[in-house]
Amino acid sequence: MFEKILIANRGEIALRIQRACRDMGIKTVVVHSEADSEAKYVKLADESVCIGPAASSASYLNIPAIISAAEVTDAEAIHPGYGFLAENADFAERVDKSGFIFIGPQAETIRLMGDKVNAKQIMEKAGVPCVPGSDGPLPDAPEEALKIARKIGYPVIVKAAGGGGGRGMRVVHTEAALKSAISVTRAEAGAAFGNATVYLEKYLENPRHIEVQVLADSHKNVVHLGERDCSMQRRHQKIMEEAPAPELTSKQRTRIGERCIEACRKIGYRGAGTFEYLYEEGEFYFIEMNTRIQVEHPVTEMITGVDIVQEQIRVAAGERLSVRQKDIDFRGHAIECRINAEDPFRFTPSPGRITSYHPPGGPGIRVDTHIYQGYTVPPNYDSLIGKVIAYGENRDQAIRRMRIALSEMAIEGIQTNIPLHQELLLDNRVIKGGVNIHYLEQKLAQQKKRDAAR
Ligand code: ADP
Repeated sequence: MFEKILIANRGEIALRIQRACRDMGIKTVVVHSEADSEAKYVKLADESVCIGPAASSASYLNIPAIISAAEVTDAEAIHPGYGFLAENADFAERVDKSGFIFIGPQAETIRLMGDKVNAKQIMEKAGVPCVPGSDGPLPDAPEEALKIARKIGYPVIVKAAGGGGGRGMRVVHTEAALKSAISVTRAEAGAAFGNATVYLEKYLENPRHIEVQVLADSHKNVVHLGERDCSMQRRHQKIMEEAPAPELTSKQRTRIGERCIEACRKIGYRGAGTFEYLYEEGEFYFIEMNTRIQVEHPVTEMITGVDIVQEQIRVAAGERLSVRQKDIDFRGHAIECRINAEDPFRFTPSPGRITSYHPPGGPGIRVDTHIYQGYTVPPNYDSLIGKVIAYGENRDQAIRRMRIALSEMAIEGIQTNIPLHQELLLDNRVIKGGVNIHYLEQKLAQQKKRDAAR
């Protein structure tokens, strides 16, 4: 096992990884930007190295600075967390070439899955059901694209092959709008992801987002840890997740889980990964694979008892997974609310100093956050400042516990989206379970209309 791991990330996930390491008796090095120098999780690490100014391009995305930090601290492996360099194949390669171990899949796998067109083609071959669409990149000739769209049937969605974080997507309802949607998405994708390749998919009107967590080691062991429902989204970004997915039967779970396992074997997958699907009328349609730890991993940990970060570390060290499929029991229900520093209804970022903080607690409550009273949320990064996870014997209890937790939780000095979560947890459709990916935006649009009429 490793003696020392460098954590190439920040905030709650840097602390989460640090906790996993400490539990395994592994020393930690945290790299940080100038904006994060004072953060408590940085001080908690065995060692810390400042790798640059606040702008992430100069720090958390600065590959040479991160590699140097690993060299000077004698770290053996690098955990990239999520976001930043987590799905950057060049980074994984550089880590490898510099003599360190990248805690994640092989660079080649990251590269393949990072191109969504590739990923879909590979998955299709591996027997995974995909969203119908252009079987490859869209050709340059507009006439060809029109033909493909006609065959798929409107509405369609133009997606960037290199897209991520809910960006690089455009829904098209009519043939007249297709050409310009393609050229705008191409231009945006080229600028934002350095890859102007776009593809077409059938736009599913009322799907849910259901994803399957897998773990694979280099000894041919692969397991699935069941699914998460992440349909509660705004602008294609998740805000609340749960496991298991409401109404999914254990037969369906086993069937889709086994498909994912088979695909992992076929592509020689290693590490933790997530198969993302849209789910409509009982059918799963693959959209992409994430080759990293995900923000919402705790809900799966709560219902399986498996520490996914520790398994990632074990696999990277060449060890076997600590669990077999037959040992994995799904028990109870877990919900996660992402706590963002933002206006709860207008969604404008709200960085600044937290003047007062009171965390929730009690049975079944887990809080993953790096914040504390006196902490200043820097304006330079994503607005996620923590996650509250509620576990219950069943979904009703998980919801009740989450409501109590959010009512106890007090964060002052900045705005957070806690009021939005509280409202959602009182919404009858949400309480019933199984809402689709448009539910939140439709609800927000209705509220806006009502407010305007007042
Ligand atoms: P990203 O990598 O940016 O997260 P994804 O391909 O995972 O992009 O899609 C993110 C979200 O966009 C999905 O959860 C879903 O809400 C929406 N979406 C993507 N593809 C489709 C589709 N074909 N039909 C309807 N919604 C889609």
